[in-house]
Amino acid sequence: MGSDLVIVYHRQPYEEVEENGKIVFKENKSPNGIVPTLKSFFGRVDNAAWVAWKEAEDTSSPGFERVVEIEDSFGKYTVSRLPLTKEQVSSFYHVTSKEAFWPILHGFKEKYNYDPVDWPTFKEVNWAFAEAAASEAAKGASVWVHDYNLWLVPGYLRQMRPDLRISFFHHTPFPGADIFNVLPWRGEIVDSLLACDVVGFHIPRYSSNFVSVVRSLRDVDQVPREKVDDDFISEGSALSDRTVPTAIHVGDHVVHLGTTPVGVDTDYIAEVTARPETAERAAAIKDELGGARLILSVGRTDYTKGGADQLLAFERLMERRPDLVGQVRLLHVSVSANRAMTVYEEIQREIEEIAGRINGRFGTFAMTPCALISRAIPFEELVAYYRAADVAWITPLADGMNLVCKEFAAAREDGDGVLILSEFAGAAIELSSAVLTNPYSNKSMDHAIEQALEMPEQERRDRMGELRRMVETWNTQAWARDQLALLSPQDFGKTDAA
Ligand code: UDP
Repeated sequence: MGSDLVIVYHRQPYEEVEENGKIVFKENKSPNGIVPTLKSFFGRVDNAAWVAWKEAEDTSSPGFERVVEIEDSFGKYTVSRLPLTKEQVSSFYHVTSKEAFWPILHGFKEKYNYDPVDWPTFKEVNWAFAEAAASEAAKGASVWVHDYNLWLVPGYLRQMRPDLRISFFHHTPFPGADIFNVLPWRGEIVDSLLACDVVGFHIPRYSSNFVSVVRSLRDVDQVPREKVDDDFISEGSALSDRTVPTAIHVGDHVVHLGTTPVGVDTDYIAEVTARPETAERAAAIKDELGGARLILSVGRTDYTKGGADQLLAFERLMERRPDLVGQVRLLHVSVSANRAMTVYEEIQREIEEIAGRINGRFGTFAMTPCALISRAIPFEELVAYYRAADVAWITPLADGMNLVCKEFAAAREDGDGVLILSEFAGAAIELSSAVLTNPYSNKSMDHAIEQALEMPEQERRDRMGELRRMVETWNTQAWARDQLALLSPQDFGKTDAA
């Protein structure tokens, strides 16, 4: 019979855990990231499926289940597991996607590494994903493909199943033509995306960049644009763009462009915030600070996140303002990657070196100005840090959206706290009530941190009120509603569930 909605995302939507010699599928309780947001669609569509890869050397062994039926708090769904060898995973994901595509998507041409790319393997893996989706989808179903590591899936799927409605969502930035066209496979990628019915992005600027790329490579007939809802784009952001392309006409085929910023689950964050243990943990963190103010920085160890530049800005603050030494402390959470990759190891070393130097220069036995945490903090505890922080300092050099800044605002039901946010995070177009800063400018970074530390209470509260209003308006539920409308809701069972 097949499924009416097939979500194609490279990771499985649960954790596989061994219990008494048997593999069991455990629901991942972490509310963060793409997986739970996408899983929320299982409650909205009656018979949905998910396609992901599963590392497997020997698929003929009885232990390998190609298709599994799952029932968890998100509902019932089918997971079709595409067996890939370790070598295929490494090549398509860790090499082609992370070493070639990721730097280009984020505008870091100098980090782009062409040499190790094995393009035939990338194509082969994308073809296999398309086949798995094609065999799961009912007639006329919607197939929703996610992220750049599956860029070629829509084109292959269109060849296999012309009846399907195919959508693609980018969870990253999308660069302009002079950066994107560095990729030698640009034509194949663009043609695959043009086979979609819907191509989605977080913010208008990324849609416009996509159109500029398409125009540089292909003859397209028409690109209608419309003015965006004023409520969505904030004035003064480096990423603001007040009109948005809505479709690309390629001959008779129309590719709709959807622009909706992914949000955070504000209801869940409010629930965690209201727990007595969160308040207790936040109070304990404040006690440990001994009266000092807390600047909180949270991100992954990645060159796009600008961790080293931020630590250098903190070092300059300590130099410039000896009166603040001991009065403010920085907690820098930079979660290092699980997999050893030279480029991430270098960034990690740089961060450790600068943090160590700051503590050596300005610390005492009793007080270190900078605490560095390289492992992931469980989300519930992170919320306690959001509550305890005076300033959240989020300054990526490039970031598709950035959820940490939204989580910070969602957790501040006390209405206080200052957010400093990079203009180059997608979230900046909604959150212009933050102190926006340009992380490529020392002057701008230095000004922003002092402005945040000196901000009068009333201004802090006014800005936080506005931030919270935006985060609540554009939350996960709003994103899901918009996406569902684009995915052709008339075919689904539970269309009006919000
Ligand atoms: N996160 C976490 N613990 C940490 C650091 C981060 O749970 O120690 C979560 C954070 O709450 C957020 C996500 O990781 O939901 C990071 O998402 P974001 O969009 O900010 O960055 P990404 O890593 O996806 O680029």
